[in-house]
Amino acid sequence: MTKIPYKIYLEEKEMPKQWYNVRADMKNKPAPILNPATLKPVTKEDLKPVFCDELIDQELDDTTPYIDIPEEIHTFYKMYRPSPLVRAYFLEKALDTPAKIYYKFEGNNTSGSHKLNSAIAQAYYAKQQGLKGVTTETGAGQWGTALSMACSFFGLDCKVYMVKVSYEQKPFRREVMRTYGADVTPSPSDTTQVGIKILEEFPGTTGSLGCAISEAVEAAVTNEGYRYVLGSVLSQVLLHQSVIGLETKTALDKYGIVPDIIIGCAGGGSNLGGLISPFMGEKLRGERDYRFIAVEPASCPSLTRGKYAYDYCDTGKVCPLQKMYTLGSGFMPSANHAGGLRYHGMSSILSQLYADGLMEAVSVEQTAVFEAAQKFARVEGILPAPESSHAIRAAIDEALKCKETGEAKTIVFGLTGTGYFDMTAYQKFNDHEMTDYIPSDADIEKSLSKLPKID
Ligand SMILES: *Cc1c(COP(=O)(O)O)cnc(C)c1O
Repeated sequence: MTKIPYKIYLEEKEMPKQWYNVRADMKNKPAPILNPATLKPVTKEDLKPVFCDELIDQELDDTTPYIDIPEEIHTFYKMYRPSPLVRAYFLEKALDTPAKIYYKFEGNNTSGSHKLNSAIAQAYYAKQQGLKGVTTETGAGQWGTALSMACSFFGLDCKVYMVKVSYEQKPFRREVMRTYGADVTPSPSDTTQVGIKILEEFPGTTGSLGCAISEAVEAAVTNEGYRYVLGSVLSQVLLHQSVIGLETKTALDKYGIVPDIIIGCAGGGSNLGGLISPFMGEKLRGERDYRFIAVEPASCPSLTRGKYAYDYCDTGKVCPLQKMYTLGSGFMPSANHAGGLRYHGMSSILSQLYADGLMEAVSVEQTAVFEAAQKFARVEGILPAPESSHAIRAAIDEALKCKETGEAKTIVFGLTGTGYFDMTAYQKFNDHEMTDYIPSDADIEKSLSKLPKID
């Protein structure tokens, strides 16, 4: 048998030429998104003031399985893709497990995460439409950084509303964005009506992704020639992120490797959705079976403790509503260090798959996540992002189960990014000052009691 190399690299010509839209193979499609004003399914016309035209088509398309990747995007992808699929030999050895562990590493670009895969697509379509610029929110800063890079590449203006806690904790992220030409505002801010309202209701709040989204949407619709772009949650983002899964599948197929378990961290669901899409497609078509595990922080447990219901995607209730696992759009997660996972809801695609029992979910506590991150960094070399480390935690836990049962399962997980801008969090962990905040049932009940009533 051929020895599996440490890194399975694809050639440029093996990169996908089309994205895969998993909705096409879903029997139960995600529920339609609703207009916040009328509570009726949105039309293309409703979305036009907010989103780019081509991206609206992708958002509403739940039947076309493959969508061409435009040449300009494919060319940009070549700057940092294909990304390697790494066999974690050192981790396996450290755990003394019979399991075979692989990770798909998406941190090998300046933004440090998978988010560039969708940023470049969204910036491209905005440019094609002749727009001046785009607005967005960013949590930990990875999305804002990715979008700044994409916008500077295409010569678009980029306005970023950055969740205040991250703006303060991560000044270096902010400066990377400004280096790429973006205009960065801490959110909530007094530069938008919705920001002013949120500040009145929650004085001193350190913000949330939901608030920042509301501000960015307002900035898009009130500035001529601007549209809003979002780095996760939306179905179009999962579509763009399918490059992760498609490359992973090509690399595994090359060596005849069939995974048993595929694991990813889940904030809004884009990297996990992208990683599992082609494999989920096989499962949906009845060709093969896999276990899929979404890993979320115990401090913001939308799948494991939320409710499957229609909810607003943002705190200010200006975005369309979608049916998803949610903790309520007013849920203010504690200042967890995995900023990219502090979102109250979940992709409507992943929510439907989870509701149908096609995917599992677990929640993990912050200190256990950093223990896994430290172990991984020490043996595999890469310093992982706190978000990615949620997937590492779950992969290690599954590998340790294999050690008990003696099963040599094949585990693939998504290593979404690097953690160089998260050293404040690592410092807390190294100084033994990290805590695990888990919301009480009462906290969650209170937030869920404010869900919109929709039949
Ligand atoms: C944003 C981010 C995530 C979470 O976002 P998803 O949309 O759920 O993928 C995970 N890891 C990293 C490094 C991120 O930047």
